[in-house]
Amino acid sequence: MTKDVDRERVVFMNLIQNSLTSSDPGPGSSAGSGGGHGHPFTILLIEDNPADADLCQFYLADAFGPRVSVLQATQLAQVEALLEQHAIDIVLLDLGLPDSSGVTSVIKLRAITPDIPIIVLTGSRDQQLGVRVIREHAQDFCAKQDLSSAVLSQAIRHAMERHRMQAQYARILETNPDGMVVMSNDLRLLFFNQAASTMLGVRAPDDIGTPLSQDLMGEEGDELELPGGRVAEVRRATLDWNEAPATLIAYHDITERKKVEWKLKQLVQFDQLTGLNSRNHFFDHTDRLIAHVDREGGMVAVLYIDLDHFKNINDTMGHSAGDELLQHVGERLCESSRSSDFIARLGGDEFALVLSDVEQPDDAAHVAEKLIEVFREPVRVGESSVGIGLSIGIATYPHCGSCAQELYSAADTAMYQAKERGQNHYHFFSEQLQREVESRLLREQAVRQVVADETLWLAYQPQIRASDGQAVGVEALLRWPSDTIPVLSPADFIPVMEDVGLIERVGYWVMKQAALMAVETQRDLGITLRMAVNVSMRQLYDPGLFDQIAGILESTGLPPGNFEVELTESSIMADLDRTCETLRRLRQLGVSIAIDDFGTGYSSLSYLRKLPVDVLKIDRSFVMEIGSNRQTEAILENLLGLTRALGLCVVAEGVENDEQQAFLRGIGCDVLQGFHIGRPVGLSQFHGWLKSAGRESNE
Ligand code: C2E
Ligand code: CA
Ligand code: CA
Repeated sequence: MTKDVDRERVVFMNLIQNSLTSSDPGPGSSAGSGGGHGHPFTILLIEDNPADADLCQFYLADAFGPRVSVLQATQLAQVEALLEQHAIDIVLLDLGLPDSSGVTSVIKLRAITPDIPIIVLTGSRDQQLGVRVIREHAQDFCAKQDLSSAVLSQAIRHAMERHRMQAQYARILETNPDGMVVMSNDLRLLFFNQAASTMLGVRAPDDIGTPLSQDLMGEEGDELELPGGRVAEVRRATLDWNEAPATLIAYHDITERKKVEWKLKQLVQFDQLTGLNSRNHFFDHTDRLIAHVDREGGMVAVLYIDLDHFKNINDTMGHSAGDELLQHVGERLCESSRSSDFIARLGGDEFALVLSDVEQPDDAAHVAEKLIEVFREPVRVGESSVGIGLSIGIATYPHCGSCAQELYSAADTAMYQAKERGQNHYHFFSEQLQREVESRLLREQAVRQVVADETLWLAYQPQIRASDGQAVGVEALLRWPSDTIPVLSPADFIPVMEDVGLIERVGYWVMKQAALMAVETQRDLGITLRMAVNVSMRQLYDPGLFDQIAGILESTGLPPGNFEVELTESSIMADLDRTCETLRRLRQLGVSIAIDDFGTGYSSLSYLRKLPVDVLKIDRSFVMEIGSNRQTEAILENLLGLTRALGLCVVAEGVENDEQQAFLRGIGCDVLQGFHIGRPVGLSQFHGWLKSAGRESNE
């Protein structure tokens, strides 16, 4: 009750004050806005308190006179019907209604009247609330306590002005062909135009107030893929939207431009005559491969291919024949390369091949050799067939340059070196690479030849029991034919055989030959020896190894106990599961398993316990230090203690003098092998040694 009296008094005081100062907002005031220009307009007043409603009516009449008609609702529920029947210019909304209150009322009202300016009448002087209300799309607010004709008329003018401005904004944005979105700082959609609705698939009013999808936000300058496959360039600007900071995002449709760009790119990427990749594409692609190698390792090789004497053909047969020839060359290059190779026409009669799955320069040399070979066959041009030669320059990354351009120049230079050698040659950019590759390929050729000729032979090196000097074993070692240049040692030719895939075949021959020899020695001399053969990693992982050995033992009649397989630690460890299985089966058969070069690899004794192994061959590098390195001697002593515990037989390799032999015997080493005992020699020499050694050990 007292509250109402207070209110009455405040209102009365305001009335007096206003009538004293009211010079500005009177009816038809020139300062007026939409409502003040003299046109009649309609206000909807939503207010349930009759006293407040009357007061507002009074102020409105006071401010605008007969031009204003005021409709009144006492709750939100009545509003929709009124809006349907009347053209309302502005809404005055009380925040405390029987069916709705506070900010919710504004939101609800805004949903019903998206376009009509709203002025909120607040019961409190709460500024915060006012600001918040405005952000929820009302145009202005007035505290009821401060209400007067002047305040109200100013608020109405402001609201209408702001509304008009907003409508103009919206019209400008609406007619823009670019998609325009206004987004609040908490990323909700405040406004979007028709173009944005089409481009982004957002709909009004459902999507107003909802968050904008992250995919559609984009940063300044981004090219965004829109729903429906169109592409837009994004521009962003900050602005004030209803007095709150917001972001304007503009989407400029660049789909057509992109299509043209793509077509241009096609033109730029491919050579029109041959359909091969273009010169530009060659550089892009090579740079990409280089970046890949930087990340993942590996190597890139560029083969620069020049046709020998193409100019002659062009001059004598004409340009169209020249074109046809270039097309055929392109086809043949494609046919004779792998799908991973990149083939480009660099211009004129110059082509390039870029290889990415190469491991060493030799691989690139092989490709070059193959191409030269393939082009020995003449190319058909019209009715005639034309012989053409190739000159190929090779540059590799990272050896010969740091980018596509440098590789290109290097390969170009190398191509001229190739040309100097005459038609049908290739040349590496780096002289050192060229030499290495040449000698390696020479070696490879020699190895293939020797294998084809079957001129390799086996040397035999004896193994004796340390305690009494009795010959107990022999190791078979592969030998190069002495009359074949270059003379290669096993360390040279075994890796080549492994690389080119000949070791399986040669290895099989070694095992069979050795087994036969052991049987012969038993038969002719009555001496039983355990025959040890070296088995390389590739043989070990050949699934046929077990059957090969079983077959050899069966056909030669050599007891499995007299056959020993020597393997290195690294080949065993490469795939333990697979090797263990093979070794177990061999052992079951009775074959003994030796670890060769022990001490140079993992040298871990813990795994020895788990492996199916019988013999440990201590590497020569340890034996060498006996007499000069106390530490090595101590290690050997300890090692022998351990191997005894594991039940392993220990063979010492590379015994070269009495001191070593005495020491090894002293610490309990089982078997000795080395030049001091006997060098690896041919069969008859070995038999000779056996006879004299037998005599020695008998003495
Ligand atoms: P490895 O299995 O360790 O063979 C022992 C090597 O040491 C042999 O070299 C042998 O001649 C040498 N040697 C023996 N006693 C002494 C000595 O007292 N002092 C010195 N300085 N050297 C000694 P070789 O014959 O040149 O063989 C080298 C390697 O080639 C072998 O090492 C083996 O890994 C491999 N190899 C030889 N023959 C074959 C084979 O038939 N198949 C496979 N897969 N590899 C083989
Ligand atoms: Ca060996
Ligand atoms: Ca060895």
